[in-house]
Amino acid sequence: MRLHRGDTGEVIRTRDQDDYMELYGYPFWQVLREAYVPVMMEVVKKYGVNLRLICRVKDIDQKATAVILDTGERIEADLIVGADGIRTIVRRSAVPGGDVPMDTYWNAYICRIPKEPILQDPELAFIMNEHALWMSANMDQVLNLITYCKRWKVVEPPELATWSNEKGKCVLIGDAAHAMIPAAAQGAGMGIEDGPAIAECLDRARNLSDIPRLLKAFETIRKPRTTRVKHQARANAEIFMVADPEAQRKRDHEWKSDPSNRTGYNLDKDKAEELKQGSLAKQNWLLGYDVYEVVSVIPPLRNKFCLANAVRRTKNWTEYWEFRVHEKGWHGNARAGSSYMNVLAMLVHMKRFMACVMREVLRY
Ligand SMILES: Cc1cc2nc3c(=O)[nH]c(=O)nc-3n(C[C@H](O)[C@H](O)[C@H](O)COP(=O)(O)OP(=O)(O)OC[C@H]3O[C@@H](n4cnc5c(N)ncnc54)[C@H](O)[C@@H]3O)c2cc1C
Repeated sequence: MRLHRGDTGEVIRTRDQDDYMELYGYPFWQVLREAYVPVMMEVVKKYGVNLRLICRVKDIDQKATAVILDTGERIEADLIVGADGIRTIVRRSAVPGGDVPMDTYWNAYICRIPKEPILQDPELAFIMNEHALWMSANMDQVLNLITYCKRWKVVEPPELATWSNEKGKCVLIGDAAHAMIPAAAQGAGMGIEDGPAIAECLDRARNLSDIPRLLKAFETIRKPRTTRVKHQARANAEIFMVADPEAQRKRDHEWKSDPSNRTGYNLDKDKAEELKQGSLAKQNWLLGYDVYEVVSVIPPLRNKFCLANAVRRTKNWTEYWEFRVHEKGWHGNARAGSSYMNVLAMLVHMKRFMACVMREVLRY
């Protein structure tokens, strides 16, 4: 991946897939949405998820934990996960502070450029063969070839105090929770990380009443991370789009002398030690993050002490005892003899009951 100056085309930074492999053990992938969605669809099918497409959610009924579709249909659930992007209805209708206006940060322009004129221009043809980014707006040669352009307002919602509603029955993930400006190229990445994080948290639920505290655990893990990435994106935007020529020169010089830079200024392929001093290695917090490892710090949940559980366990045992009495014909013995069997049964019963209570206390 190369970074070019927009005005001169000069390459000022090159990142090599081998370096990602060397430092993180994985390549740096960029995936098109249309390639990624079919992969997710395969998984959805494999696990037999009931997926309903073309259903627009009009509102959320928090009291009943239900979504209301624009057809009027209500769908009740144990938990609503709002993964509905920057224009999220779940955030607006269910999460405290979710309906405040969003800041406009800057504009993105989505353009279409036919490939033939690029391929025919000797100075531009290389674009088609590499993944490149230009940093400044002065790219006249390319801009002159645009046939379609749409302005895309880039907004950043204010940080939410919490991602779930008061009942702990609605939660936000992805852009709905933490949309950020795209200058770190990590917005979708953060949403993708949210997926296994929330799944791993909910996997620890032993009953429905566990869900709210597991959502809190999810948020406690994910919020500091997404907030840090959000700040990184803002910092990147400042650096990429700095207007002052002197500041641009300083930035270019820093990048050129960065040991992670493969542009040919300072590093040959074998200098692995030098690589470890460069800016790529300092991104370990971002690129070396293992979501499963982080979530694994949440211990398995333990039941709170509950007398009802002790009673239920004793009841199970009582039923078993009664069955044994019946099976053994001890009724007859008791009738023939004395109250000996009854007293014994009561004592054993009491002992088992106290054992159940103690077990519950210890589990707490
Ligand atoms: C210009 C630009 C460049 C970017 N580049 C990168 C990049 O390089 N790398 C990266 O990681 N991220 C990038 N991002 C960010 C990335 O696009 C988002 O972070 C990501 O798409 C968020 O995914 P999501 O699933 O949370 O939301 P979305 O992708 O917005 O999906 C939300 C889904 O919910 C559906 N939905 C919404 N409302 C309703 C409703 N009422 N009823 C039913 N369905 C509904 C929508 O139809 C949509 O399918 C970029 C963003 C922009 C704007």
